[in-house]
Amino acid sequence: MRYYSTNRQSAPVSLSEAVIKGLAPDRGLYMPERLERLPQKFYDHIEQLTFQEIALAVAEAFFAEDVDAEALKAIVYDTLTFDCPVVKLKDHIYTLELFHGPTLAFKDVGARFMARLLQYFLAKESQQKVNVLVATSGDTGSAVANGFLGVDGIDVFVLYPKNKVSKIQESQFATLGQNIIAVEVDGTFDDCQTLVKSAFLDAELNQKHRLTSANSINVARFLPQAFYYFYAYAQMKQMGKARQWVVCVPSGNFGNITAALFAHRMGLPVKRFIAANNANDVFYKYLQTGAYQPQLSIPTIANAMDVGNPSNFARIGELYEQSYEKIRKDISGYAFSDAEIAKTIRICYEETGYILDPHGACGYQALCQSLLPDEIGLFCETAHPAKFKETVEAVLQHSIGIPPKLAAFMHAEKKAVALSNHFDDFKSFLLKNAD
Ligand SMILES: *Cc1c(COP(=O)(O)O)cnc(C)c1O
Repeated sequence: MRYYSTNRQSAPVSLSEAVIKGLAPDRGLYMPERLERLPQKFYDHIEQLTFQEIALAVAEAFFAEDVDAEALKAIVYDTLTFDCPVVKLKDHIYTLELFHGPTLAFKDVGARFMARLLQYFLAKESQQKVNVLVATSGDTGSAVANGFLGVDGIDVFVLYPKNKVSKIQESQFATLGQNIIAVEVDGTFDDCQTLVKSAFLDAELNQKHRLTSANSINVARFLPQAFYYFYAYAQMKQMGKARQWVVCVPSGNFGNITAALFAHRMGLPVKRFIAANNANDVFYKYLQTGAYQPQLSIPTIANAMDVGNPSNFARIGELYEQSYEKIRKDISGYAFSDAEIAKTIRICYEETGYILDPHGACGYQALCQSLLPDEIGLFCETAHPAKFKETVEAVLQHSIGIPPKLAAFMHAEKKAVALSNHFDDFKSFLLKNAD
């Protein structure tokens, strides 16, 4: 299958090129040129399949032409060594818990898949090392760093905004060492993202080093996120709750919800979608007005969604033929202030005993406000609440404890390089330190 750029100024490429390049040379995002409906019999029997079997069927639809069957199966099975269970919170509201992976956030799925697919393509060709550049507002960095940790032939540079990620998040990527280099940038997440994008467009850097991205713009991180929406459907169907199904995704860069929209295009029976935002409400405003106006990102307590110019907006536009009307028919939006997020965490705990993280809280609250009587809602719990321990404990006024997996990171020593947000500094650092 070929992958074309949303900007259409550069030529379509193979899967391996799209994965290694990340961003298209014209700064567009790669899109698969076909999105086919999966056969009806897959949906008829989906509730009898395991998560790995479902994921493999979805992966084959995208990647079967470009990856050997045995290798693809190994990549999928090795990626999904943890569950994504659907849990009932109250009548009509269910959560898809995406935090059972190694770094306790949904990005583990895409990051683990991408590391294995990239390694597969690299093993088939030249010996030159690859440098993965990734900008993070918190959870991407930990998922990518852990997904790639110890993978031969790949070094990972994790750029993150100084003092804008939690200590727990920082410990998950800035303590690892080996092939993981943490870069602490004096600036915002958007600055980090700009530095990474500029590096990909810099002729000298690209001549001397092989650079690739692991942000949600990369098709190998982005597409596998569709797996768990099919699996969620299988679980809802098993419970007899798959009709009038509304899927709500807490969104920042909009990669996760776009994967859900792809699944829908492949026939997944979802009635409608909700994008839940924090105070970074560019998409919400777009839905209200039809005008897309990027903003500077605003810091919030749901900081993994502090994105002022969501990259995957380009893919959503592409999927809906740039039609505002069509987008609005499938997707509605909500945006919540920090105070509303905190109140939601408190009330949900009081009513159900379930501890939401600040991102999942946006999803839960959007469903509470928007579900019609005959609808059943599912929102993604995109991270474990313990990753945002200080915030959640301050709201609930009691200690919530830390899972052992997470505590293990926090005992290790921080090793990060401090840089300004000027591209010249980052460039000379890479020229010296990249392989
Ligand atoms: C990254 C992240 C999000 C936002 O996901 P996008 O794909 O960027 O929209 C939401 N919640 C958590 C916990 C995250 O880490």
